[in-house]
Amino acid sequence: MSENSGGLLLVVSAPSGAGKTSICRDIMKMFPDIVYSVSYTTRPPRPGEVDGRDYRFISDEAFRAGVAKGDFIEWNEVYGYLYGTSGSDIKKLLEKDNDIILDLDTKGAVNLKKIFPEGIYIFISPPSLKELKKRLSKRGSDNAKTLKTRLDNALEEMKAAFWYDYIIFNEKLPVAVEQFKSVYLAEKCRRERLEHKLEKLMKELEE
Ligand code: 5GP
Repeated sequence: MSENSGGLLLVVSAPSGAGKTSICRDIMKMFPDIVYSVSYTTRPPRPGEVDGRDYRFISDEAFRAGVAKGDFIEWNEVYGYLYGTSGSDIKKLLEKDNDIILDLDTKGAVNLKKIFPEGIYIFISPPSLKELKKRLSKRGSDNAKTLKTRLDNALEEMKAAFWYDYIIFNEKLPVAVEQFKSVYLAEKCRRERLEHKLEKLMKELEE
C-alpha cells in the first residue's frame, strides 16, 4: 500500500515528559493538512481526552479480536494497556495523499518500519535527565509509583533513540517545533518522493 501513495508518514516517539504532544499539536496547527493517526487503546480515557480524537478507546476483548483479524499494522502493550494502529485507517489516509503523524512507542516504530521503510522516524528527547525528572514530577495526576515507572520506562525508551532518522532535543518548545518543521519540509522535497512529479513535468515539456 505504501508504494502508490504520495503521503508522508511521520512516526514520532518520545519518552513521556519529552514534550511530544505539544510539538505535534503545534505542527498540526501550522500544517492543517497533516492528519493525526488516532490509535486504538484499551487504556481508559484521561480527563479531557475525547474518543475518536485522542484515541479510540476500546475493550480488551475488542482489541484482541482486532489483533486476531489482523486489523492492526502494529500494536504493543505499554504500561499494561494495549495500543495499536489500524491498517485500514492508514491505507485510507495514504490513498488520499495525506501526510500523517503517528505517535508510537519505540517498539511500535520499529515494527512499523518493516512495513513502511520510507517513513520518517523522529525521536523527541528531553534535553537532560534533570529536566526529564522535573517534567515528570510536575505531572499532577501521577503518583510516586507511576512516576518511578515512567522514569524507568523513559530511560528504557531513550536507549532506542539511536535507531531513529532524526533526534530533536526539546529544550525550548519553539526551537523544537522549528526543528520538526524543518525535517518535515526537507523530507517533502526529497527527490525520491518527487520523481513522479518530475516525470510528469518532463512529459509535458516533451509534448
Ligand atoms: P499514553 O497512554 O501516555 O497516551 O501513551 C503511552 C505510550 O503509548 C506512548 O509511548 C505512545 O507513543 C504509545 N502509543 C500510542 N498509540 C500507540 C500505537 O498505536 N501503537 C504503539 N505501538 N504505541 C502507541
